[in-house]
Amino acid sequence: MTVWDDLVGQEKVSAVLDAAARDADALVTAAAADEPLPQASKMTHAWLFTGPPGAGRNQAARAFAAALQCVSPDRALGGAPGCGFCDGCHTALLGTHADVTTVAAVGSEILVKDMRDTVRKSFTSPANGRWQIILVEDAERLNEKSANAVLKAVEEPAPRTVWLLCAPSIEDVLPTIRSRCRHLNLLTPSVDAVADMLVRRDGIEPEVAVAAARATQGHVDRARRLATDPAARERRAAVLKLPLRLDEVGACLRAAQELVDAAAEDAKQLAEEMDGKETEELKTALGAAQGGRLPRGTAGVMKDLEDMQKRRRTRTQRDSLDMALGDLTGFYRDVLALQLGSRVAIANGDAEDALDRLARGSSPESTLRRIEAIAACREALDRNVAPLLAVEAMTMALRAG
Ligand SMILES: [Zn+2]
Repeated sequence: MTVWDDLVGQEKVSAVLDAAARDADALVTAAAADEPLPQASKMTHAWLFTGPPGAGRNQAARAFAAALQCVSPDRALGGAPGCGFCDGCHTALLGTHADVTTVAAVGSEILVKDMRDTVRKSFTSPANGRWQIILVEDAERLNEKSANAVLKAVEEPAPRTVWLLCAPSIEDVLPTIRSRCRHLNLLTPSVDAVADMLVRRDGIEPEVAVAAARATQGHVDRARRLATDPAARERRAAVLKLPLRLDEVGACLRAAQELVDAAAEDAKQLAEEMDGKETEELKTALGAAQGGRLPRGTAGVMKDLEDMQKRRRTRTQRDSLDMALGDLTGFYRDVLALQLGSRVAIANGDAEDALDRLARGSSPESTLRRIEAIAACREALDRNVAPLLAVEAMTMALRAG
């Protein structure tokens, strides 16, 4: 087991990161022993991870952060950093390492006020003597001001600071920033690679794994969720029944409400599972186990956790709705494939009857128009349009006829 194991179908990227992490480790070790620093190094202070949604750009950056913070004793014996188990790896992967700061967009933009503390921190030395890592999950959402703040920091980095920027594509990041980054592009993993991971890592039955991998089209997290969570399978089945229900205005409005409610419910469930436990754990760690009262000066830490949980809830809701829209897009793509006479690449074999009915009852042009309506809805949600409004406009456009 290493930190690279979760990067599915990204062998090239893993190899580059592994080599950089080894050189980074050699650098830290030499500096700590007051030895001359190695001259040639594959390590650099700014990285840009791009790739389609679900390919794992954030996971790749996080795995790299873990490898850079790895303190496994095996390293001294010639082992590679990134064991996945030591305190450094573990806390970096979990997101609680003191020298790994994660920035994620709350709304449609990362504001400069949200970047200020992080940029300041990037100019300081790491607490544990290894690396000060700033991981920006949605670098495409940096606006002009916050991007400029990042640019200044990337231009004149502190010696032990590493910036890890993640974005869908290289065009999403200012040219001045990306020219200072080493660029790694992740590819959509194949259905086989995703299914194989589900079987190997999660112990899923091969048949279920292949169906989940195919249905989610290379989106690793979604495939795992679909294969392991019965509620996710139910939600997907309900989504795939929607197209046939959309015959009149009332039905479209109801369907929109159901989609939005299901996403909110999903976020609520996940929050209930995780928030309470995390809060208790943190309180215990802060020493409030006995009296129940928090020690002085720890309110800020609790507030940080609450903020993170709130962000996660918003994000889960957004992701869940986006997943439903992805399922719908896949469904209409299948309809189009049938209309064009191809049965080979059908992703939703489990909804064949519905696919056939719609394929026969409509034209390829109207199917294309519907796929565009879903894309328009996703774009509107991306711009923070009220979800119900955007989804209603979509279900109305999906109406049969
Ligand atoms: Zn480790």
